[in-house]
Amino acid sequence: MPTPLAPADDPKAPPEPPRPAPLRAPGAKLSGPARAMHKLGLVRDIDLALHLPMRYVDETRITPMASLRDFDTAQVQGVVQECRVEARTRRQLIVRLADDSGELLLRLLHFYPSHQKTLAVGQTVRARGEVRGGFLGREMVHPEFRAVSAETPLPQALTPVYPSSAQLPQAYLRKAVLSALARAPLHELLPPGTVPPGLPPLRDALQLLHHPPRELDPETLEDHSHPAWQRLKFDELLAQQLSQAQAQATRATLAAPMLRAGPDALAARLLAALPFTLTAAQQRVVAEITADIGRPQPMHRLLQGDVGSGKTVVAALAAAVAMGTGWQCALMAPTEILAEQHFRKLVGWLEPLGIRTAWLTGSRKGKARQAMVAQVASGEAMLVVGTHAVIQDDVVFARLGLAIVDEQHRFGVAQRLALRAKLGAQSGDGAKLGAQSGDGAKAGAESGDGAKPGALSGDGAKLGAQSNEARGLEPHLLMMSATPIPRTLAMSYYADLDVSTIDELPPGRTPIVTKLFADGRRNAVVARIAAEVAQGRQVYWVCPLVEESEHVDLQNATATHAELGAALPGTVVGLLHGRMKSAEKAAVMALFTAGEMKLLVATTVIEVGVDVPNASLMVIEHAERFGLAQLHQLRGRVGRGAVASVCVLLYTGPLSPTGKARLQAMAETNDGFEVARRDLEIRGPGEFMGARQSGDALLRFADLAEDSALLQQARAVAPRLLREDPAAAAAHVQRWLASKAEYLKA
Ligand code: ADP
Ligand code: MG
Repeated sequence: MPTPLAPADDPKAPPEPPRPAPLRAPGAKLSGPARAMHKLGLVRDIDLALHLPMRYVDETRITPMASLRDFDTAQVQGVVQECRVEARTRRQLIVRLADDSGELLLRLLHFYPSHQKTLAVGQTVRARGEVRGGFLGREMVHPEFRAVSAETPLPQALTPVYPSSAQLPQAYLRKAVLSALARAPLHELLPPGTVPPGLPPLRDALQLLHHPPRELDPETLEDHSHPAWQRLKFDELLAQQLSQAQAQATRATLAAPMLRAGPDALAARLLAALPFTLTAAQQRVVAEITADIGRPQPMHRLLQGDVGSGKTVVAALAAAVAMGTGWQCALMAPTEILAEQHFRKLVGWLEPLGIRTAWLTGSRKGKARQAMVAQVASGEAMLVVGTHAVIQDDVVFARLGLAIVDEQHRFGVAQRLALRAKLGAQSGDGAKLGAQSGDGAKAGAESGDGAKPGALSGDGAKLGAQSNEARGLEPHLLMMSATPIPRTLAMSYYADLDVSTIDELPPGRTPIVTKLFADGRRNAVVARIAAEVAQGRQVYWVCPLVEESEHVDLQNATATHAELGAALPGTVVGLLHGRMKSAEKAAVMALFTAGEMKLLVATTVIEVGVDVPNASLMVIEHAERFGLAQLHQLRGRVGRGAVASVCVLLYTGPLSPTGKARLQAMAETNDGFEVARRDLEIRGPGEFMGARQSGDALLRFADLAEDSALLQQARAVAPRLLREDPAAAAAHVQRWLASKAEYLKA
């Protein structure tokens, strides 16, 4: 039996892959490679079958030694003429190999006695590697090799090279995939007419991708354009579309309170009290949202609008509709600073209209928190604003009608799942929730304006436990984001989401001018700050990290704070970073908001939601280290008043071509949608979505930028398949997304 073709520096031949792969008793000992395989998520046969090669090597031909050229990667076969250990600067094994046409040396810098045995004089050996001209003639250093007999057939297929890890040898993985491929249930699940014409059955596609015939040009496989690849991508996209359609269908079976405001309702009073009139875009999205929450199915809507487009007031109006009909509303923001901004704004608007608001964040603990939690549970607090502290276990709403999540993309997938679970659990448990009775819901909806919301919810709490209709009432969900989702992403990841877009800024804004400055011109920037401050304006200076790290050469906010304080004597310079206590942060923000502090040096804690119209200059240090969406968010902190505002992107060169393109994109456009589009173009969707969301949740095979035609086809097919063959649709989703379904819904 020939030694498996393993890299020569591999200390020992890999052990046999486990068989069958997936089933083993819990706690059973796995071999090292098997453990490594599990770590990569290669557990079931289907996982291995779908673990596709990243490239291929051609072991289907033998090159005569005489025709080898330097730097060729080639496979040779010959008989060992000589095998000796040479002790030069380090011990090495030198093997002289000959075929009918000539000779070649193999040089092994790491070797074991087993290698010497395989390469003993007289053995026929097949070796593959890069050819170099050496001191003693042509040679291969560290070739892959194995002993063969003169009759050992050549492989008919290209040899796959799989994504792997250091603990998982290719040879082991190849064997595991080969046997899994034979076992995996890969029969065609999709009825005829579902798969676009010209694409092979899945089994054939996988067979070809794992073991391509030697005639095939590996490049058509490696660039993923081959029909076999297209089939995989189509299947994956279809699974995603189906799972989202299923989620949507499930939601359609859920019941939600109908939140309908009457003519003199709270929302109308809020609108009348606002110091400005809504833009046409705001009016349109308010109409879309109020139509949704007036229906008896839960809303699942994303409100997107550029930084400063006025999403908060839209949220407040939706909340007013909910609260006006006697239902509570929760607003959750990703950071304490942002939550507090919302809190202030909403309190300012709503408390004069008689709405009691609760404030829940991680830093509010003990008695203060308990008091708030009690008000939420009793329904006395109609509006609850906070960070993810809002979805902690001890928070139980009396009657939650509408949940609003700001900057939803900044919450991790896990947090969004927790929110979903929380909302679901509450509505499922009528007694605990004290949900309103069916009658109450109707009364609330019809009367339009719950003039005494507290009283209503009190009734609800009493009635809830008795009412069957009240159980299973889900709150409506409104998500907000200033990071617009590009169309292709919206179609795939958020296919089950309704989207409202504010595509217009409130009047009276002057566009922000963005300028690029190399770090060498810092002094010019500081002079600019002085000029701005002299005119009574305020300035942000954003640094990427809080503390100096030995490894990362970043300016730290503390040092910059000191440096700018020294450079600008007589100017009040503040410091804000994530390590500060929330009371400290709040105090600094209060000074800056009041205009007493002129320059605020901050880390990205100010990224979202901070609203100081008098700030007219934003300096972002090490701009090259930020994502485009983040830069756009940061830049949105200025340009909020009538004064012309400037954003300076201070970068430290040299920039890569991509880095340069990114910063230039920022200087060229102020439109968040355009920024997002370019970001997607430059970096691809994985990064766009943020690291925490990439990986498992995202597409493995399809590429939204390249495969939009397949995406369209999958979108067209999904509803028909669900209608005509729901069993096939379910089986397909199961095959592709068994372990990921939850994440895709988040
Ligand atoms: P974002 O969409 O970034 O959350 P905000 O809701 O914070 O934006 O609004 C930005 C600023 O614009 C706030 O000061 C807000 O009060 C103000 N604003 C919102 N809508 C209007 C409008 N229609 N006219 C004038 N100012 C508005
Ligand atoms: Mg906002």
